[in-house]
Amino acid sequence: MSFSRRALLLGAGAAIGGYAGAKLSGDVPPVDGTRLTQPSGATNTLNDASLLSETPVFRHTIMAEAPGDVLIERLRGEIREARAEGRPFNIGAARHSMGGHAIPPGGHAVTFDNGLVEPDTAAGTYRVHAGARWSEVIAALDPIGFGPKVMQSNNDFGVASTFCVNAHGWPVPHGPMGATVRSLRLLLPSGDVVTASRTENADLFNLTMGGYGLTGAIIDMVVEMEPNRLLVPTFDHMAAEDFAPAFVSAVEAGDVNMAYGRLNVSRRTFFEDALMITYRDAPVQTDLPPVTGSGFMSKAAAQIFRAQLMNEPAKALRWWFEASLGPSIGAGEVTRNALINEPVATLDDGDPTRTDILHEYFVPPERFPDFMAACREVILSSYQEMMNITLRYVRTDPDSVLAYAPGPRIACVMLFSQEMTVRAEADHARMTQELIQRTLDIGGTYYLPYRPHATRAQLKQGYPRAEEFVARKLELDPDRVFRNAFWNTYMEGLA
Ligand SMILES: Cc1cc2nc3c(=O)[nH]c(=O)nc-3n(C[C@H](O)[C@H](O)[C@H](O)COP(=O)(O)OP(=O)(O)OC[C@H]3O[C@@H](n4cnc5c(N)ncnc54)[C@H](O)[C@@H]3O)c2cc1C
Repeated sequence: MSFSRRALLLGAGAAIGGYAGAKLSGDVPPVDGTRLTQPSGATNTLNDASLLSETPVFRHTIMAEAPGDVLIERLRGEIREARAEGRPFNIGAARHSMGGHAIPPGGHAVTFDNGLVEPDTAAGTYRVHAGARWSEVIAALDPIGFGPKVMQSNNDFGVASTFCVNAHGWPVPHGPMGATVRSLRLLLPSGDVVTASRTENADLFNLTMGGYGLTGAIIDMVVEMEPNRLLVPTFDHMAAEDFAPAFVSAVEAGDVNMAYGRLNVSRRTFFEDALMITYRDAPVQTDLPPVTGSGFMSKAAAQIFRAQLMNEPAKALRWWFEASLGPSIGAGEVTRNALINEPVATLDDGDPTRTDILHEYFVPPERFPDFMAACREVILSSYQEMMNITLRYVRTDPDSVLAYAPGPRIACVMLFSQEMTVRAEADHARMTQELIQRTLDIGGTYYLPYRPHATRAQLKQGYPRAEEFVARKLELDPDRVFRNAFWNTYMEGLA
């Protein structure tokens, strides 16, 4: 892959963030501008990618065993102890979810550390340890000419985590990642191990997909893979109002393999221009170069990205870089695996006073102009600094109980750089609730793994089967052993 092309892709996933141990403490007085960055000094705490979720846990255990009996027995012991003491139990991977979704307050936190990947080229699948990261999956599949079929835009995340949030990416035309999972083994709260798929324990499969680790511990999974290939991009610049129909017809035409869009975020011309980037097969599929990590230009593009902070000329420059310079320098061939093998760290802001906060909204394509109108009103009247929006396409998800794509959706991934103060947090929460409501009002919904700013009523409106999810979870786990901060904030109140 050429440096320039990878640079242009930066932020395709609106990625970002590092971990500095910052704290949003309930006892901070609500004074404008009060800093939320006091390090707690505590050792037994976990945080997530928001840097705003630092929470004490009873114990955090790393388990590196292969997905077999030894691991299962170890997990059973941890669950037994948690149950006996009335403490929560939860497994996490990269903890990039932003509302403590992988943190059990005061409880037993487990992180898997094992990247086992066993490809089956005849079946077009691989068996993978639940805790394997996508970087490990790509490293195992690339040498044999395959890659993940659907994953997020960055390679740091865990494979089971991806299933548990039912993440999506920019490979098209697919539904969320759960659509590519054939089966999994789940250790239930009862201690039994079951296999779940679309034909065996299908109800468990559908609850666990997008079920935020609340139904049991995933041990391993069988996931579909896709041949790696050489792709060439096409850049189409258009008015933002024309984007949705152009994007849907491009990705559903059958020859596009990867696709995303962008909108201009300069305040003066906010959401007026759109860029659509579609990747199709190169005419000749010669020997594919091995996949590599980020290059120098990725870091250079990250600097341009960061220069946008409260700097309107820099936002205009970045848009020119993408919309005008991009098509002239970024039109060469690139492998599919190279496009998705990007770590989050590339865009780390390195600023201890700010944090990157993601939002995501799933919008019916025909209501996309209404969504943009809502964003212009709500975002521009807030104090928040929007750095990026990336647009993706997600096909209907017919499986998961907590589905965010009950029909085809345009996924609108936004990145804000937030000051870490009480004042900014309050403004951000207010803006998020308003954006969520405006999206719900046009038949869309919002993504659950980000900041817990939605109201419970909004969660119920956006996820109409939430109460059914909770009732079924409590049948599986009457002692509520599998709990995390997401359960405490939203689901407990629906029980
Ligand atoms: C920079 C950035 C970029 C992102 N880009 C995208 C994107 O392109 N597309 C997208 O859809 N999302 C995206 N996200 C959201 C991301 O996909 C989710 O937050 C995802 O969960 C992150 O993976 P993780 O390994 O950090 O999961 P964690 O936060 O560690 O865990 C997520 C959930 O999975 C559960 N879980 C994990 N392992 C197991 C297991 N073995 N058994 C049972 N439950 C388990 C946890 O309990 C938790 O509820 C992005 C997030 C960030 C911060």
